[in-house]
Parts: sequence; C-alpha cells; structure tokens
Amino acid sequence: MGLIQASRGTRDILPDEVIYWQRVEEKARDLLHQAGYRELRTPIFEQTTLFERGIGEATDVVGKEMYTFSDRGDRSITLRPEGTAGAVRAYIEHKLHAQGGVQRLWYTGPMFRYERPQAGRQRQFHQIGVELLGSLDPRADAEVIAIAATLLNRLGIDNWTLSLNSLGTAADRQRYREALVSYLSDHQQDLDPDSQARLQRNPLRILDSKDPQTQVIAQAAPSILDYLAEESRQHFERVQQLLQSLGIPYQLNPCLVRGLDYYTHTAFEFLLPDLGSQATVCGGGRYDGLVAELGGPDTSAVGWAIGLERLILILQRGKLTCTSALDFYCVSRGVEAEAQALQLCHALRTCGLSVEMDLSGSAFPKQLKRADRSGALACLILGETEGRDRSLQLKWLHSGEQQSLGQQEFIQNIDQVKAQLGAARSLAS
Ligand code: ATP
Ligand code: MG
Repeated sequence: MGLIQASRGTRDILPDEVIYWQRVEEKARDLLHQAGYRELRTPIFEQTTLFERGIGEATDVVGKEMYTFSDRGDRSITLRPEGTAGAVRAYIEHKLHAQGGVQRLWYTGPMFRYERPQAGRQRQFHQIGVELLGSLDPRADAEVIAIAATLLNRLGIDNWTLSLNSLGTAADRQRYREALVSYLSDHQQDLDPDSQARLQRNPLRILDSKDPQTQVIAQAAPSILDYLAEESRQHFERVQQLLQSLGIPYQLNPCLVRGLDYYTHTAFEFLLPDLGSQATVCGGGRYDGLVAELGGPDTSAVGWAIGLERLILILQRGKLTCTSALDFYCVSRGVEAEAQALQLCHALRTCGLSVEMDLSGSAFPKQLKRADRSGALACLILGETEGRDRSLQLKWLHSGEQQSLGQQEFIQNIDQVKAQLGAARSLAS
C-alpha cells in the first residue's frame, strides 16, 4: 500500500513557512484596521448558483475550474473559487446596506479552483481581499488601490507595477464587444484554438490570451478606452488623477480585462516581475452590477484580492527574521529534577513567558545542543544537584554566561528576569 500524500494542487504549509504567512496576515490586519475595514468570515462552500450568477457562466472560473459536487441532500454545492460572491451574498442576506453609507470589509482564507498546478498556481490557494461597498466615488477606487500598494510596500516589496484599465459600463462594453468581435473575426484563423472558441462566448477574454500570436493580434485590436461613454471616461480620468496625487505609478493597459464577468469601470492588477509567468499577485476592480445581480439593492462596489502563495514565494527569497523566539529552553535529568522542571515551566507560562521543555531524558550535552538550536534566549538547567536543592542554572545562550539561582527566588524575581530577557532579545535582533 502506497503512502497517502496531499492531493494534487494542495500543499502543507510547514512551521518554517508559516512564519511568513503570519507576518503577512499581521501586516494586512494592522493596515486594514487602520483604513477602517472590518473582517468578514463566510463559509468555504456555497450554493453553486451563487457563483454561476455572480461570476458568470462564460468565465473560465465557472466554466472549467469549479469544485462542484452534490451533497448527501442532493444540493449542488461549490467550494468557493473566490471571495467576492460570498461577501456580497452575506452583505445582502444580513442587510449590511441598511446600516447606510459605505461598508468596508476584508476577508482571508482558502479558495478552490481546478487548475493545472504549477509554481504560484494551486487547486487550493489563499487570498486576502477587500470589498468597499456603497460608493461610486473614484476616491473609493483610489483608496483600495492605495491600500494594496501600501501592503506590498510594508512587506518590503517595492518592485511591483500597477496595470490599469477601464471596462466602462455594461452598455460601453456591449458596444466595444461588437467592434472587437468584428475585428477579431477578420483574424479568426490566426487565433489560438482557445481564443477561437471564445470569439462568440467571451471575446474580451481573448485580449489577455497568453498565446504569442494571439497577443500580437490583441495589441492591434480596438481599445476599449475609445468606447467609453463620457461619464465612464470622466470616472477613469479622476481615478488616474487621484493615483497621481498619491504618488502611485501605473501603466494603462487596454488589454487588461480580468477573468470575472462582474467588473465595470476600473480594473487593475499588481504584477511582480520575479514571479515569471504567474506574475499577477493582486487583481481587482469595480463591480457596480454584482449586488443587484444577486438580488440586493443597486450598490456600487470596488475591491481586490491578493494571492498569498505568490506573495509568499517572493517574501521567501528575502530574509525574514523570526520575531517569535522562545524565552527559555528547559533541560533536566533525574527523577526529582524532571518533575520540578515541569512545574517550573508551568509557572513561567503563568507569568506570561514562553518555554519549551526537553522531554528526552538524554545526556546533558545532547539536551544542551537542542537548546542552542531552539532559538531560545536562555536555557534552564536542572540536574541531580539542582533537583536536590530546588535550584536551577540559568544560562544566557548569546553570551554563555551562567548563574545559579533558587527556583523560588527565580520566580519571585521574575520581573528582573523579564528585563534581562528584553535586553537579550534586543541584542539578538
Ligand atoms: P490568473 O490569470 O493568474 O489565473 P486570475 O485572474 O484567475 O489569475 P483572480 O481571480 O483575479 O485571478 O484572483 C486574484 C489573485 O489570486 C491572482 O492575482 C493570484 O495572485 C491569485 N490566484 C488566482 N488563482 C490562483 C491559483 N490557482 N493558485 C494560486 N493563486 C491564485
Ligand atoms: Mg485564473
């Protein structure tokens, strides 16, 4: 019988990698709190119709990538492929719009898409996303874009580029679509097979085909920016002015269409050159039609989602110092000493300190080697003598300095010990 392994397209995130995830989550949580966003947690599965209606049946996500199955009650269930549809469903279901004004929400968690796995592309992957619901103001577009830029910057990533486009209103897009189909029909035989199939079903998507020959054709296609109605054009102009006023650089890319049907007006992507062919780390845009489409009141909204795997691939290339170093590693040997070590560790945790206890019972040199590797600031040593006297040896691992103390005295003077730990911590970092 073979060993059971994680399913294709999924992966375990082991403790050495988790510190990167925690760093990202912490930075995101702080920043989103500063910007007035509140966290929303929605279920990982939803009724399939939510995504079919919300994302659009002609999209790749709904057409080819969904994890859909019947549950034991014969309901069609889908593991969420993205976060916006669920957030909007919750917004409508709990009448968050009735609170008036703008709702600023954020979420994080796993998403599921049946795709061909490769670096930065998995079947279970994770996103952090924001949704700003209830405003048509171009400042809302600029706000969410600025937050994504700030988050990347705070994580030490500053070589991103921002690609920007406007998809106008549904009416603008309809007019553009006709012009595009007419242009592409003239080049039909030169398009890649996927794009040929999309020509009637989802022609805008052809614009971001990865096929080199199709790309050449797309570059010369009519630009959607020439098909925007006056109001759409003004909105887009204003978004650009605001980004300039914030010092956020961007590049216009009329071929940027994004994979989901619900986008209107502003569409954008943050790209990281180091990611190779999976270069998009954050995708987003305005979706003024989605809330009404899902049965809610007419509500404008704008948001984005960051792919965490791709972000963390980049962070792992840099060095991240682990700030979660243990205070103590406790080694002990002998029946008395081992029992006292357990009590001492318990007492230290009650005092708010972190401590890992060696359970091996092996010879001291071995235990001390593990203490060195543990990353703790200090080691507590309890041997036969210490067990007899109810004392301990306190060894500072950065200097090797060692002192002998009574166990009771040690706990009674814990504030002094905490100060010493603080000093050792700043030396170590
Ligand atoms: P792509 O063109 O790379 O397939 P997308 O347009 O399908 O991306 P979105 O739906 O906009 O992606 O999701 C936002 C972000 O989530 C992406 O920019 C990417 O960073 C991440 N993402 C999307 N699909 C995956 C996946 N299968 N594995 C890992 N990350 C993903
Ligand atoms: Mg995709």
